[in-house]
Order: sequence, then C-alpha cells, then structure tokens
Amino acid sequence: MNSEQFDFLVIGSGLAGLTFALRAAEHGRVCVLTKGEVSDSNTSAAQGGIAAAVGEADSWELHEQDTLIAGAGLCDEEAVRFLVQNAPESIQWLISLGARFDVAGDDLALGREGGHSRNRIVHHADKTGWEIERAMVAAAKKNPNIVLFRHAFVTKLLLSQGRCVGASAEIEGLGPKRFTARAVLLSTGGCGRMYQHTTNPKVATADGIALALDLGAKVENMEFMQFHPTTLFHPQMRSFLISEAVRGAGGNLRNHLGRRFMYDYDPRLELAPRDVVARAIEAEMKKHGTWCVYLDTTHLPPDRLLHEFPTIYDKLKQIGLEMEKDWIPVVPAQHYSCGGVSTDLDGKTSIPGLYAAGEVASTGVHGANRLASNSLLEAIVFAAAAAEASKHDTLPDKHGVSTLPVHCITEAESVRLRRALQRTMTNHVGIVRTDGGLGLALQEIDSLLDEYRSLPESPYSQHPLETHNLLLAARSVVTSAIQRRENIGLHFNSDH
Ligand SMILES: Cc1cc2nc3c(=O)[nH]c(=O)nc-3n(C[C@H](O)[C@H](O)[C@H](O)COP(=O)(O)OP(=O)(O)OC[C@H]3O[C@@H](n4cnc5c(N)ncnc54)[C@H](O)[C@@H]3O)c2cc1C
Repeated sequence: MNSEQFDFLVIGSGLAGLTFALRAAEHGRVCVLTKGEVSDSNTSAAQGGIAAAVGEADSWELHEQDTLIAGAGLCDEEAVRFLVQNAPESIQWLISLGARFDVAGDDLALGREGGHSRNRIVHHADKTGWEIERAMVAAAKKNPNIVLFRHAFVTKLLLSQGRCVGASAEIEGLGPKRFTARAVLLSTGGCGRMYQHTTNPKVATADGIALALDLGAKVENMEFMQFHPTTLFHPQMRSFLISEAVRGAGGNLRNHLGRRFMYDYDPRLELAPRDVVARAIEAEMKKHGTWCVYLDTTHLPPDRLLHEFPTIYDKLKQIGLEMEKDWIPVVPAQHYSCGGVSTDLDGKTSIPGLYAAGEVASTGVHGANRLASNSLLEAIVFAAAAAEASKHDTLPDKHGVSTLPVHCITEAESVRLRRALQRTMTNHVGIVRTDGGLGLALQEIDSLLDEYRSLPESPYSQHPLETHNLLLAARSVVTSAIQRRENIGLHFNSDH
C-alpha cells in the first residue's frame, strides 16, 4: 500500500483538528485527513457561540462554577479549571486568525445562554461556527507546513509496539493510502447519526469512537447524550434547529390538540432547562402516539419574528411555513455527545501516540451534562494542549504495522442496517430509558453487528464502514447506559 510519513497526523478538519494542525505546524509537517469537504463538520453548524469570561463583570471562577453545576457533580474539576482559564486567550487566538465576532462599541458583544450566570457567549450573528471554520480553513490553507486531503476516509489506526503510529485511509481518486506520524490526533467530531433525529450533519458517524475502540483505547461516559428539544420535524429539512431563543421570545409548545402541555410538566413551562423540556415533549408524543409537537409563534408580532430570527424565518418559508400563521412541527433531536475517548489535560488517550480532542474526546469538562457553548471552547483549548504535548513525541525506528482489510457490505444493506439501528436508538436509548428497553437495544445492536459481519464482501464504499462504526459506538452508548445505575444529568432511566 502507498505510504507517506509526516510529523503529525490529524483526522478531521473541524475546530479541534484545525487548531491542532495550526499549532503543531510550528514544530513539523502536518497532514490533515478529512472525509468530506474541508468544512463539512459540526463546527460549521454551530449557531450560538463560544463561551469565555471576557466581560467586565465576569471571571473564570464564575464560568467554572456554572460549568460544574451543569455537569451535575461528574465533571473533572481540574479539566474544567483548565478550560475556563484558557478561554479568553483562545478567543484572542481566533481573532488573530481572522475570526470576526460581533462587537458592541470597542468590546465583544456577549450573549447569554441557559446555565450561564453572566453574558459570556462570543458570537458571529447566529452563524458562529461557520465563521470560525471559515477563518481556520483559510489559515490552514495558507500554512506551508499543512497538507490537507479532502474525501480521505480514515478506516483504521495503525498500532506498532503498543503505540499508535498512523492511520490508513481511502482517498477518493487515489485509493488506499497509509500515513505514519509521531503523533496522531483523533478529532472526528460527534455521533448523532446513530439516531433518527439529530442536529448533526451527515459526517457525524462516530468514526473516531469506533477507531479508538478498535485500538483498545478507553472510551467513557457515552450514556450522556444531549438532546435539543426543538428541531424541525419535516421530511425536506430534517434536523433544522429551532433555537431556544424562539421559546425565550414567547413561543408556546402545543400538542396536536392545541393544549399547552408544559403546564403538566414544569412550572417554568417552555423556559424550563433543555433536558426537562425535551423529556416533556417525548412524554407527550408517547402519550398521544404522535410524531411531533408544535411550536406556536402566531401570537408574536411578525416584524419581531423576522427581525430576531431571520435564518429560521427564511428556512421555514422555503417549506411553506409562516411563523406568524403556522404552528411549527418540532421534535427533540440528538445534539451533542458528552462522552468519548478518555483523555488527560494534554489530550493524551490511553494509547501512547494517540491524542483526542473536540466532541470525540471525553476530557471530563462536561460531566453528566454540557453547559451551552462550552464545546467549541473545549475543542480549541484541548487541541492546543495536545499539540504542545505532542511536539516531543518520536516515531519508533522500526514501526512495522500489519492491518486486516476492512469488511464492506453493499450500500443497500448498509442503509437497511443503519435505519434499523437508528430506530432502535431512538426507541430505547433516547431521552427516557428503561431497563427493558436498554436490554432490548443491546440485543438488537448485537444482532445487527452479527448480520453485518456475515453479509458477503462488497467493493470499498464509505457508507457501510460508517454504519459499522455507528453500530460499535451505539453499543458503547447502550452498555454505558446499562451500567449507570442512578439518574443524573442527561441520563434518565424511568425504572430507577
Ligand atoms: C446545529 C449545531 C449547533 C451547535 N451550536 C454550538 C454552539 O453554539 N456552541 C458550541 O460550543 N457548540 C455548539 N455545537 C457543538 C459543536 O459545534 C461541536 O461540538 C464542535 O464543533 C465539534 O468540533 P470537532 O472539531 O470536535 O468536530 P467537527 O467539527 O464535527 O469535525 C469533525 C471532522 O472529522 C471528520 N471526520 C469524521 N470521521 C472521519 C473519518 N473517518 N476520516 C476522516 N475524517 C473524518 C469530519 O468530516 C469533520 O471534518 C453545535 C452543534 C450543532 C450540530
């Protein structure tokens, strides 16, 4: 197999991957492999912003306190302190790369989100992730020490003498290729595509979790899956996020009979915390056997809707919905994975030579629940730490590796198995879980994995390998959920 050596290998081109690449490029040659277009990522989809205590009345201590409260006692306190103390400098670094954040006079304009006791959300309108990704991609493309391969799907990590020494990838137009490096960063993002409804783009297929599991790396906290309460339920625009701010502005949740059902669940009604609203919507849908509930904004002034929610207003208009006249069909959707590949403060995983950062990693900062807008921050802070820590790594002189070929099935079979997995995860491993449902999910996933392995070999194709990765990672979510005996943060089992 064709092979190439670099100093650093980065898998993924979201915020974590590109932060590492730009920092590591100061110490050697960096190769970035990304499976789609460079900016296909959760990073590009991020709307709200990035949290940092940069306001006058704010401090890292307050940011720390808010993060620990959200994490419900399961955060790693050292990791949280490291995160919040490095936040202001991270914002400055992004600005130095050309990221344009909204300003108020001479200062950054700071938004407020649920769980934050101060205004500390640095943003670019409602397209913060897009703007950050734009600036990072431009900086990476200009850097002579960074080589970027698009449509390069990593299929396997390479292990030699217990150390991760690289990865193999299938590159569109080039075929299979092997890359070796003295340090490898996993920055493959989320795993939302294991559910029927997710806000994550189609690249979020848990590849990094499966690659790490395959190598024997420690993966943890996978049961803590964050669901966003209100995403559009519509075949033409799946997973489109209807921001919390719409409820903040006075939007009401109604069931199919028109009843404001939040009265039955929480005195804070539509403004209860995200996980409470998501659980209430799920309960209401199950109670009535409906596919969605509705967000009603018809009582709000049309010019306010247009002025405050231009993107949402336009998107809905494209599918014939008018916010001032129509109820918006919504469902909760998977949004963020708090768990992942376990790392220390330097982004080191349990396998020497392998680092992880961003959504694929479990650094300990989120504990049982993520504080809004801490994830972009986590990606940048821990990827920078990993780049610093990896600069003295060396590749063993003799690093012979042998890899078994990956097993592909047909795309048609892959689609069938993936749909079955998504149904299982949505029915049994969603917002409200039960002992029976989790047991059933484990059985179903195991039988889907058996079926995958017993299907005849087909020529290389990305979709089946992603499906296999989703199955492996989903199994890890289910087994973690079975082991968790108490209800805490995002994990809720109605039998406990
Ligand atoms: C709709 C939405 C809104 C959000 N809003 C916010 C917000 O306001 N604030 C906030 O802090 N967070 C927000 N988040 C979460 C945040 O965007 C993500 O957690 C963060 O961007 C993750 O960055 P990352 O670099 O880890 O992964 P990503 O940005 O997802 O990048 C992963 C990269 O890995 C590549 N990849 C994956 N598998 C492979 C493979 N096998 N081979 C090669 N390449 C691969 C992908 O193509 C992609 O380039 C939001 C998320 C979504 C979906």
